[in-house]
Amino acid sequence: MSSSAVPAVRIDAGTGHKVFNTRAAKASARIVGKGYDVLDDPDLVSMPEAKRDVRFDDEAQAHQRSFIEARRGTDDYMPMEGKFDHYLEDHYSAEPIEREALTDECEVVVVGAGFSGLLLWYKLSKAGFTDIRFCERGGDVGGTWYWNRYPGVACDVESYAYMPLLDETGYFPNQKYASGFEIFEYCQLIAERFGFYDHCLFHTEVTGVNWDDATQRWTVSTARGDAMRARFVMLANGILTTPRLARIEGMETFAGQSFHTSRWDYNVDLAGKRIGIIGTGATAVQAIPELAKEAGHLHVFQRTPSTIEVRDQRSTTPEQIERWSQQPGWALARRARVAEILDGRGRQPTAGNAAEGAAPSDRPRLSREERTKRQLDKGYRIMQQIRDRIDAIVEDPKTAAALKPYYAYACKRPTFHDEYLPTFNRPNVTLVDVAPIGVQAINERGVVHDGVQYDLDVLIYATGFDFMSRENMARVTDGDGRTIADKWSEQGTRTFLGLHTAGFPNLFILVGPQASGGKFNFTETIEEQTDYVVWLLSTMRENGHHAVDVRDQDEADWAQHCADADRATEPLRDCLGNFNGYGRTEPGSLVYYGGRESERRQAWAQETLQPYVFTTAP
Ligand SMILES: Cc1cc2nc3c(=O)[nH]c(=O)nc-3n(C[C@H](O)[C@H](O)[C@H](O)COP(=O)(O)OP(=O)(O)OC[C@H]3O[C@@H](n4cnc5c(N)ncnc54)[C@H](O)[C@@H]3O)c2cc1C
Repeated sequence: MSSSAVPAVRIDAGTGHKVFNTRAAKASARIVGKGYDVLDDPDLVSMPEAKRDVRFDDEAQAHQRSFIEARRGTDDYMPMEGKFDHYLEDHYSAEPIEREALTDECEVVVVGAGFSGLLLWYKLSKAGFTDIRFCERGGDVGGTWYWNRYPGVACDVESYAYMPLLDETGYFPNQKYASGFEIFEYCQLIAERFGFYDHCLFHTEVTGVNWDDATQRWTVSTARGDAMRARFVMLANGILTTPRLARIEGMETFAGQSFHTSRWDYNVDLAGKRIGIIGTGATAVQAIPELAKEAGHLHVFQRTPSTIEVRDQRSTTPEQIERWSQQPGWALARRARVAEILDGRGRQPTAGNAAEGAAPSDRPRLSREERTKRQLDKGYRIMQQIRDRIDAIVEDPKTAAALKPYYAYACKRPTFHDEYLPTFNRPNVTLVDVAPIGVQAINERGVVHDGVQYDLDVLIYATGFDFMSRENMARVTDGDGRTIADKWSEQGTRTFLGLHTAGFPNLFILVGPQASGGKFNFTETIEEQTDYVVWLLSTMRENGHHAVDVRDQDEADWAQHCADADRATEPLRDCLGNFNGYGRTEPGSLVYYGGRESERRQAWAQETLQPYVFTTAP
C-alpha cells in the first residue's frame, strides 16, 4: 500500500514538520468478507409478541440467580504471551516499512488509529493543531475494524448513526448494518480524505510514555526504537483491543490449526472442515452463521448464551440517499435521534425504521426504586421475548433450552442476528453446552468435555478481549516513575470525566474507564470526548498555558459519582461479564452509568475551569 517512491519519513516543505509514508496493509484477495444478508422471511426478522403480564417475580429472580451463580468464578482468561503469543500475529499486513527511529519533538502524540484517532485528527487539525503524530500497532487505520475481519463482521448500532463524519465525507453506508469490511474501507477513506496517513507511524507500538517534570514534556518510546518528545499525549488505544484466550488445559497440544477471531487467518481453508468455536459472545454470534455455511461440521462450545435480538438488515435505498442528500447534517441528526431511542428503550435498539419515526414520549417522574422496578420488569419481558424466539425457531428442544439466557437484559452486550438461531437447525451444526464451567480440556485431536472427544481440524477462539485492558496504563509514568496502573491499584480507578488522571499532566484518555457518557453507540462517546479535548487545547492556546492537570478533589468527586451511579443501577446489570468485570471489580471502575449527569459536570468544568490546574511554559 505504501508507495516505495516516497520515503518513509520526509519533511513537509510548508510546515517544516515530518510527514510519513508507513502504511503497510496487505491487499490480499483472500481477506474479503461481508456482513449480514438482507432476509425475506418475516418469521426471522420479527420478535414474538411481548407478553404484557410477565413480571420479574420471585420465581424468575431465583431462576436468574442460580443461572448466574453457577457461572461465578468460571471466567479464567489469559493473555497471549509466551507460547501463545503467535495468536497475536497480524495476518492483514505486509512487512513493516523500514524507517529511521525518531527522537525529535512534536506537539501531540496519539496512541491508536481507530475511530478515536481519526476523529482527533479531523477535529484538532481543523482547530489548527497539525503537529501531531499517531502511533499505531497495525499496518493501517481502522482499529477495531482493522483487526476484526471474521466472516459476518458488522456493526450492531445502525451504520448511519455509528459511522462518524458521514456528513463531512458525503458517504452513504451500503446497508443499515454495514459490514466490518465496509467500515474498514470507510476508515481508509476518512484517512485519505483528511490527510491522516501523512501523520501516522504504522507498525509502531508504543511501549513507554514518560513525563519529565523539568522539561514539562512526555517522551514516547516505541518498539521501533523511537523516543519522541511531545507536549501532549492522547491514549486512543481502544477498550476492546487486547485479545484474550480462555485458559484451557492442554490447549498448546492441539495439532490442527487454530486462531483468535480478531486475527482471522484467511490462509486456513475452512471448506468442509471439522471446526470448533469456543465462545458465544457478540463476535461468535456474527461468525457462527457464516462458518456453518463453510464447515463440514461445526461444533459450537457455549458456556453462557448471548441474547439474540432481531437484526432486520436492510440495504440503503436510492430514495434514502436522495432524501439525505437534500438534508445537510442528516447523519448528525440521525445519531441524535437514535441516541434518544436507545436511551428511551433501555438501550434496546429498535428494529425497523424507528429512527425515522416517533421517539419515546416523556415519562412521568418516578422515584429511583420505581424506575428500577419498572426497568427490571421491562428487561425481563424483553428477555422472555428473546427466549420465546428461540423456541419459535430452534427445532431441537435440548438445543433450544441451552440457548436460553437468564440474566438482566443488556448487562452483557446485546446481539442482533436473524441467521444465528436457524443455524442450529442445520445438520452440520452441533451446540455443545459446556455450562457452567466452560470447555474442560483440549488435546491433540480437539476438545474433550464431559468425557466426550470432539475431533477437530480447526479450532477458533471467540474468547473476546481484556475489556478496558490496563496494558497501556502500565506504560505511562508520571515524573516520579509511577504508572497510571500503579496509581489505580493503590487508589482505585480515578479519573476526571474519564479523560484525565491527576498527576499525569497533558495526558488524555479516550473512551477509557469512567468515560463520561459511556454509550451503547461508542461513536457518541468518541465525538463527545474529542470535542472536549479540542476545546481544552484551544482554551490553553488562547490563555497561553503550557500544561494542564486536574485537582485531586475534583477527580475524587468524579470517581465517587461513578461508583454511586454504578451501585444505584446495579440491579439492572445482574450478570457476570465484561461490563462488571465478572463481578470482581470495584463499582465505578469500568463503564460510566451516570447518564446525563456527565453532561452537566462537563458543562460546569468548561464554564468554571475549576477542576483544572494550568501552568505556563517552564
Ligand atoms: C468486533 C467488534 C464490533 C464492534 N461493534 C460495535 C458497534 O457496532 N457499535 C459500537 O458502538 N461499537 C462497536 N464496537 C466497539 C468499537 O471498539 C468502537 O466502536 C470503536 O471502533 C473504538 O474506536 P477506538 O479508536 O476508540 O479504538 P480501537 O478501534 O480499538 O482502536 C485502537 C487502536 O489502538 C491501537 N493500539 C493500542 N495500543 C497501542 C499501543 N501501545 N501502541 C500502538 N497502537 C496501539 C490498536 O492497535 C488499535 O488499532 C465493536 C468492537 C468490536 C471488537
